[in-house]
Amino acid sequence: MKYIFFIPDGLGDYPVKELGDKTILEYANVPNLHGVAQKGFCSLLKTVPDGMEPGSDVCGLSLMGFDPKKYYTGRAPLEAASMGVTLKPNEVALRLNTVLIQNEIMADFSGGHPATEKSTEFVHQFNEQISDLGVKIHPGMMYRHLLVIPEELLQEGNGELGLTPPHNISGKEVSPYQPKGKGSALISEIQKRATSFLANGFSLDGFNANSAWVWGNGKAPQLPTFKETYGVDASLISAVDLLRGLGTYLDMEIIKVPGATGYYDTNYTGKAEYAMEALKEKDLVFVHVEATDEAGHNGHVDEKVKAIETCDELIVKPLLKELSSYKEWRFLVTPDHYTPVATRNHVAEPVPFAMCGTGINSNHAQGYSETVAAQLAKEPVVGHELMGQFLHSS
Ligand SMILES: [Zn+2]
Repeated sequence: MKYIFFIPDGLGDYPVKELGDKTILEYANVPNLHGVAQKGFCSLLKTVPDGMEPGSDVCGLSLMGFDPKKYYTGRAPLEAASMGVTLKPNEVALRLNTVLIQNEIMADFSGGHPATEKSTEFVHQFNEQISDLGVKIHPGMMYRHLLVIPEELLQEGNGELGLTPPHNISGKEVSPYQPKGKGSALISEIQKRATSFLANGFSLDGFNANSAWVWGNGKAPQLPTFKETYGVDASLISAVDLLRGLGTYLDMEIIKVPGATGYYDTNYTGKAEYAMEALKEKDLVFVHVEATDEAGHNGHVDEKVKAIETCDELIVKPLLKELSSYKEWRFLVTPDHYTPVATRNHVAEPVPFAMCGTGINSNHAQGYSETVAAQLAKEPVVGHELMGQFLHSS
């Protein structure tokens, strides 16, 4: 059996006034996704266990079939793996974003999506500014960097280290969300030095950031491999470090697609082509697109509509066609979480999923949407249990 698992990140949304109170998915022209639901099975998926945050990390674990309650240790360790950074047992990984803070407000959690080359230059120079602190920053894509700190340097203070994802406080005052607990003084010092370096030392050409924001702390997770858990060989296509890191810990093949940016301008066609190629060798290929999530964070209704329409035409359509050339196949689409254009952050709503193909019975969905899925779902499927159903249900 050949399987495609398509993840449009953050696709889930609420009714949007300017779209006549339709959701993005209800408004967009996505005939191929609707076809998956109509021919197959559509329902709701609870990707965020109670009490956990709706991050792409927690949701990614759920989607890949692993219980976040059992395996989640933090976001940055996953990204470390994808960047080729192996954490020592005593090391804590953290995310470091370059951000724009204006009038004490988180104006841009991505610092204007700087070019990776420019960002890398910043990281190299900034490492020299903090070399006395015993920490190191590894440059990632655009604004997504990795900070590694030996655990023994995070002992001062009381209570667990409390850090806030910057994309969760877009447009909000930052002061209530400054680092708290054990190790917070060191984190604050790093952020402070970044602010001063960006104000005085670093050429800002092409760089719309004036500070750094640290979050996502954790140590390396202990995960079994995907193959030994599900008996299936998998490849993963994603521009996002954290999902590639998850795939790395699960021993999947990580495919780099030229021009895959994690943004609106990503190489949709390239993702489909590389997925088709991978499918020749592997049983399962994950295809992840981040543009839908970014549009949600930016509150860009038009871009979110456009991103999912482009996915439908350039990814879903050709992949369904390719799958049909195999004797037995299945296709699954599900977002990891909601990123509503109205709230501009992740929301822990159960997400609509749809799957079709060999041996999957139809539950007569009218199309693929939040509303249809909610009408058909007796109860949402538990996130990490969907993988077993997708791969092995008969
Ligand atoms: Zn997001």
